[in-house]
Amino acid sequence: MRIVIIGAVAAGTSAAAKARRNNETAEIVIYEKDNYISYSGCGMPYYLGDEVVDLQKLTPRNPDFFKTKYNVDVLIRHEVMSISPTEKKITVKNLESGAVIVDYYDKLVIATGASATVPPILGADREHIFVLRSINDMLRIKDFINAKKISKVAIVGTGFIGLEVCENLVGLGISVTLIEKLPQVTPGLDRDMAIHVLHHLKEKGIRVILGASIQSIEAETIELSNGVKVEASMVLLSTGVRPNTALAKAAGISLGTANAIQVNSKMQTNINDIYACGDCIEHFHLITNKPVYRPLGSTANKTGRITGDQITGGSLEFRGILGTGIFRVFEMTVATTGLSEKEAIDEGFDPVICHNIKPHKPEYLNGKEMVIKGVADRKTGRLLGAQIVGKEGVDKRIDVFATAITFQAKVEDLFHLDLAYAPPFSTTKDPVMYTGMILDNIIHRNRPVITKTELQKLQKQHPETHIMDARAVAQFKKDHLENAENMMPENLRKKTAKLDPEKPYIVYCNKGTTGNAAQNILLNNGFKKVFNLSGGFKQYKAEQEDSL
Ligand SMILES: Cc1cc2nc3c(=O)[nH]c(=O)nc-3n(C[C@H](O)[C@H](O)[C@H](O)COP(=O)(O)OP(=O)(O)OC[C@H]3O[C@@H](n4cnc5c(N)ncnc54)[C@H](O)[C@@H]3O)c2cc1C
Repeated sequence: MRIVIIGAVAAGTSAAAKARRNNETAEIVIYEKDNYISYSGCGMPYYLGDEVVDLQKLTPRNPDFFKTKYNVDVLIRHEVMSISPTEKKITVKNLESGAVIVDYYDKLVIATGASATVPPILGADREHIFVLRSINDMLRIKDFINAKKISKVAIVGTGFIGLEVCENLVGLGISVTLIEKLPQVTPGLDRDMAIHVLHHLKEKGIRVILGASIQSIEAETIELSNGVKVEASMVLLSTGVRPNTALAKAAGISLGTANAIQVNSKMQTNINDIYACGDCIEHFHLITNKPVYRPLGSTANKTGRITGDQITGGSLEFRGILGTGIFRVFEMTVATTGLSEKEAIDEGFDPVICHNIKPHKPEYLNGKEMVIKGVADRKTGRLLGAQIVGKEGVDKRIDVFATAITFQAKVEDLFHLDLAYAPPFSTTKDPVMYTGMILDNIIHRNRPVITKTELQKLQKQHPETHIMDARAVAQFKKDHLENAENMMPENLRKKTAKLDPEKPYIVYCNKGTTGNAAQNILLNNGFKKVFNLSGGFKQYKAEQEDSL
């Protein structure tokens, strides 16, 4: 059996290695048009920032390694030009010599990945404009920064790559301006969570321009759609990727979402003996069961392994994704899994959300606060998604959420998880458990929360809404919500008899816990409508400063 694989980064090499583990006799050949293979694209921002100084660490494997370890032939600088499924043949161009050869396959794997998109911008072909997708892109950027002693960079797009590069360039002493056409940074997050990322960027002195796109790029300046001019002697376009599927399309392979290749759970395309994996395929979402395009290294490795197993007679099948992702920007970790609130609404759910602000371990051991936004389905109580921003401990919480959602946990299940606890690692009840408790309280125990936007709506409909600030007097005096009355729980207990139980009440504290105590007092005294402000005054203020 002859297995031919196109593309030798994450998916293609995973497929080859797994195929070899299953089958000692198959001929396995990978064609790769680039000169670098099996590298860590995810590590490239850290090379730019000198956090990784040795290129070899990002590109530890070469064709010799694959030949020696796996008996796999990797032919670099060889581009597959066409596929003929009827004859099971491909044409391949040797990019060094220009020679074109014909090869045949019994099983073909398309692992052609994705390319960075370049928006149609006047001047986008100038030499100081870059994308970051491959090791060669990275080396070009590094050389340019060093050779030209670049001090001002504009990064277009505020997804994870844009922000990771931003952090790394700032670490080199470069001044960075971020330009985003949407009205928020980090498009994968709901706006009320993205606001925390924006605040962190501002704290770090980054100029962030939202709601503006590029008009034109000159040697030292960029002109934006809002008329603003940005000085930049280097520009990084970080505006997303598109799957490399022209070759597949020309061969009659069906494409789906975002023009990515449609595959079934066995990684089979619509054409016999042709498989596809990695960033060139569409995935399906574990919650909605609908196709989505979420190109990530974690999934590329997984789908590559499944492909390698399938083409050698194995039974591994792909089970779908949640879109789980994580990145660091300066001291902040940003992570997400499952559906955002916006996605849940778009998918027809009636979502319940909460903002849970908790330290990752006790404050007496210097615990650092994180904000968790939980999203759940009101009807079934199923956990749908989580977004977290914070300085420490975000990674383990997002993975617990991802695991719970994978196994279709309901919000009430989170409290019952037997999570590890000792003070250096967590709080007695982990922030994950608190998130479940808050959502459970909202859905099943009549302890509703209210967001800033909902509060403003409620106040319009019911001007008689009573707002109670449950914090200490000094905190109240410093700052509070308009028309709020200061009422700590101990005072509230004595006053309930004088309050009208038919009126709507809003209670709040700093983060939500004391607000919940006040809410309990009122509800347990027969009050009808009592909302706790989600994430308390902290979240409210953060959202109020949205326009920073
Ligand atoms: C800066 C950066 C940071 C990232 N960080 C993360 C992260 O933190 N976490 C995460 O999960 N993911 C991350 N990713 C994404 C991750 O790198 C990709 O998901 C992963 O590389 C996809 O692997 P792949 O093999 O499917 O495709 P690719 O890496 O795109 O490789 C495909 C290969 O196929 C070759 N090819 C294409 N067409 C042909 C042809 N016709 N003939 C021969 N060869 C061909 C290409 O040259 C390419 O080398 C990051 C990406 C970048 C750029």
